[in-house]
Amino acid sequence: MSLSLHGIGVSGGYAIGRAQLYSHHRLEAPHYELSPEYVAAEIARFDAAVVTVRQELIDLQTHIPEGAPPEMAAFLDVHILILSDSMLAEAPKQRMRREGCNAEWALAQQTEALVAQFEAIEDDYLRERQQDVRQVAEKVLKELMGHPGHAPMKAAAEGESILVAHDLSPSDMVLFKRHNYAGFITDLGGATSHTAILARSLNLPSAMALHNARALIQEGDWLIVDGVAGVVIIDPDNTVLDEYRLRRNQWRLEQKKLRRLKTSPSTTLDGVEIELMANIDLPSDVAQALEENVAGIGLFRSEFLFLNRDTLPSEEEQFEGYRHVAQEMKGRPVVIRTLDVGADKSVPWLEAQSDNPALGLRAIRLCLAEPHIFLTQLRAILRASAYGKVRILLPMLASLTELDQALTLIGAAKGVLRAQDIPFDEGIQVGGMIEVPAAALACEWFAKRLDFLSLGTNDLIQYTLAIDRTDDAVAHLYDPLHPAVLGLIDHTMKVGRKLGKSVSVCGEMAGDPRLTRLLLGMGLASFSMHPAHILSVKQQVLHTHLGETAPHARRLLRAGRPERILEVLERINR
Ligand code: PEP
Ligand code: MG
Repeated sequence: MSLSLHGIGVSGGYAIGRAQLYSHHRLEAPHYELSPEYVAAEIARFDAAVVTVRQELIDLQTHIPEGAPPEMAAFLDVHILILSDSMLAEAPKQRMRREGCNAEWALAQQTEALVAQFEAIEDDYLRERQQDVRQVAEKVLKELMGHPGHAPMKAAAEGESILVAHDLSPSDMVLFKRHNYAGFITDLGGATSHTAILARSLNLPSAMALHNARALIQEGDWLIVDGVAGVVIIDPDNTVLDEYRLRRNQWRLEQKKLRRLKTSPSTTLDGVEIELMANIDLPSDVAQALEENVAGIGLFRSEFLFLNRDTLPSEEEQFEGYRHVAQEMKGRPVVIRTLDVGADKSVPWLEAQSDNPALGLRAIRLCLAEPHIFLTQLRAILRASAYGKVRILLPMLASLTELDQALTLIGAAKGVLRAQDIPFDEGIQVGGMIEVPAAALACEWFAKRLDFLSLGTNDLIQYTLAIDRTDDAVAHLYDPLHPAVLGLIDHTMKVGRKLGKSVSVCGEMAGDPRLTRLLLGMGLASFSMHPAHILSVKQQVLHTHLGETAPHARRLLRAGRPERILEVLERINR
């Protein structure tokens, strides 16, 4: 019997495929069945991952830095021992043979079984060793997921599978970029959680906040994901399947047609050029941005260089990443946002998070609390500025004191490079993200000290409406068209115009084609979004006459009531 689940659509389009469930293991592991002829290759992949991780641990052991705590060597010894134990190195292989499952799944299941055994031990010290087992298993899992197998999955007659998870973290999503799913669905999450942003960036139909999809859906169930309405249909009947196949084909056709806009300039009907820039997460994403012919990188979320690892990236490693992007963009602007971890982007080296992580030590607050991390990053960014038009963007500014401190540290980083004769752009522009209502209301003060502003509407909405962007229970209240949100955006843009400072939008609103004309009508001339959305936004730009849209946009700002706002928006988009 077919069943529909309703959540929120986070990435448009339609997907039809078989469910692929993710385990509840901390690093959620994919699960698929293998045809018998692929089991041996899968076991070899598992062995290779174990060998790599063991070698990494041995290398670490031989390069323990001077002054490191004496426990470090003992800790590495324990991890090497765990990795050599047959319970971890052999038992998953037996499971693969027995169940015909993939290596990640076999390891995750075996780890859970081991951890359960530790849990039953009375001795506190021994019981806590379960953490070491988990950490070692996670290292092997990460290695496996970084080198996916080539064995075709047994499922999916249409060759498409849909990932079904209770929750996914942004770092999981980065790893899943390498897999080929037709769509994603999760029980938790909000429309602008970083997980949703990444799902959208993959341009895959997805729905979140489905509450109990993971419990109701069985491995291999047929699913339809309607990413527009946020609906998932389990085991649809043939009539519904036919209807959605039609919709999916139309959607794919529209996507194909959009490709024709790739080389056209981004200019409104009344001849105003609009800057369409890309948001990227990793240096390698620059290729996709170039593919879409973007005007620059409007937001490089540098924190992704810090995820999925146990240690901080060195200055050199960061420099190489930033330089790569700067060089590839060949003189087009590259806005590198300084580290924004905390809240839903957690890293192992961060102290335990507070009860309210979105209001805690996040982004610039964390960087100012840990100046050595910030200074390392600033030096890396400054060094990269000798290779292109690099700009610095400070996230989550709320008070002018933070801005003063950040500017002082930028000055200090410059001083260090100057003293060492290392080249950098002396006139590098520094901008601030306006994503906290306090900064939006006081943006005049910030703008006077900065070269440019960038509206982070995802957080601006979260903090203005007091809605946790990752919480599915309040996801339906997340409203970019709320008069308070639009008022803050409008105020920031007016101040920017008055002071001659450029203002762009780099939150998800910039990549939503339903809002493009409204933002254009409000006076926005610079948008930054994931490259996957550039063409649908460009299509809107090409059909907009600013002179005609601006009065409607002003009317919308005064509309007040939600139904009236939607009415005017419809008028703008007609
Ligand atoms: C935002 O808050 O709008 C933004 C662009 O930053 P992030 O989504 O990474 O918090
Ligand atoms: Mg933000």
